[in-house]
Amino acid sequence: MKKLETFNPSTGECLAKLSITPSKELQAMLTRAKKAQIEWARKSIRVRANLILKAYEKIGDRAQKMADLIHKEMGKIPSEARLEVDSNITSISQIADKVIEALKPEETTDGVTRTTSYWDPLGVNACITPWNFPMGMPQTLMIPSLIAGNTVLFKPSEEVPLVGIEYAKILNKTLPSDVLQVVVGSGEQGQELVASDVQLITFTGSQTTGKHILEHAGKGLKRVLLELGGKDSLIILDDADLDAAAKFAASNSFRNTGQVCVSTEKIFVMEGQMREFVNKIKKYTDEIQVGPMIHSRQKDHVLQQIDEAVSGGAKIIYGDPQKTEGNHLQPVILVDVTPEMNIMMDETFGPVVCITAVKNENEAVEQSNLGSYALGGVVFSTNLDHARSVARRLDAGMVGINRRVGGASGSPWVGAKGSGYGYHGSSGGHRQFTQLRIVSEPL
Ligand code: NAD
Repeated sequence: MKKLETFNPSTGECLAKLSITPSKELQAMLTRAKKAQIEWARKSIRVRANLILKAYEKIGDRAQKMADLIHKEMGKIPSEARLEVDSNITSISQIADKVIEALKPEETTDGVTRTTSYWDPLGVNACITPWNFPMGMPQTLMIPSLIAGNTVLFKPSEEVPLVGIEYAKILNKTLPSDVLQVVVGSGEQGQELVASDVQLITFTGSQTTGKHILEHAGKGLKRVLLELGGKDSLIILDDADLDAAAKFAASNSFRNTGQVCVSTEKIFVMEGQMREFVNKIKKYTDEIQVGPMIHSRQKDHVLQQIDEAVSGGAKIIYGDPQKTEGNHLQPVILVDVTPEMNIMMDETFGPVVCITAVKNENEAVEQSNLGSYALGGVVFSTNLDHARSVARRLDAGMVGINRRVGGASGSPWVGAKGSGYGYHGSSGGHRQFTQLRIVSEPL
């Protein structure tokens, strides 16, 4: 049987050799998932939600163990690993309530006819996830889907299978058999899942993989939800609190070693404020602790972007990319970049940020909107009206003003242009895990 090796990205130690799910077993799992879905969907939505909440009590009991495993297998620093686990646990009951509310049948009348809308489960959800939030990403795609009455075939990233298996194992202590099953493997098993007879594919990962999935899922008219990469900008307007902006920039560019879809990768600051901003961001970057990059391929990709930029005239003003050890790379800040450089167009997904001095906000908006990504963006200003007017000119699906992207709890998580296809969170997002049907009758 073929094996998947998983490593500690910090030390290179092999943590486990796991059996890859063979094609035949994957088909058998699908058959079981379809059978289990019939019984699962017969339970009331409240019962399904309560089972999930009960399962999360067990996750709460094991929170530190889960965080330790995330730290070991994904590499994020211990405090960030614990934050990932805790924020997932604390949000769960609100998510459950919101899904129930979103999927309540709704009546519409026009004086002649009464129509009832129902949000039914779709069937089996093939959930394919990345490595950077190894518990958070599966949670966002699986939990609303399970509460909605679907069963799930979950394929965690090949970089973090132990976290995925452990998360599912804890949930499965409470869930009925075959409601949630884990497929172990890499892109090959992901492709098999996409080609299999599932009704829904939910995916978080790179734009390249997302395009591949959409193309192949289209052949079977399968429902697809894709959360993809980003190249987020931070625009610092001339009336911004520079210190607050610099503090935010350092944290949002380098947390999780920059391996966050909504990391700040491009900063635009007004020419007259460039020098002061640069001094401040350097100071705050000194305080940042980073972990390793996930693997050497990701590190090489980042180093290549830096090399190309430097050959094209960019200047490194913070950090030394030559000083690397294993998968470790310290934060790097670049200036004198130009809009057409790879590092300004393609996702970096590493501890690097590029700062551009601009003449005015029009230039900042124009450069922010270049390229195919449009996940998030941030605007800093002490004048809310000014900030809002710039925010509305950005192509991004999510814009934060004087704060990170992502909204009030219960709001959607959405990428625009090449950063997403569909969305999750919010009533509209929860409904994307379902099939809408209507029944109409005379009044
Ligand atoms: P990836 O696309 O390489 O892999 C993601 C998952 O897809 C893995 O489980 C992988 O095995 C599987 N896969 C690979 N090829 C496949 C194929 N052809 N068909 C089906 N499945 C396939 O991405 P990654 O390196 O794991 O994650 C990093 C990316 O995820 C970044 O681009 C990041 O921005 C993005 N991301 C986006 C969000 C968001 O909310 N928009 C959140 C986290 C990460």
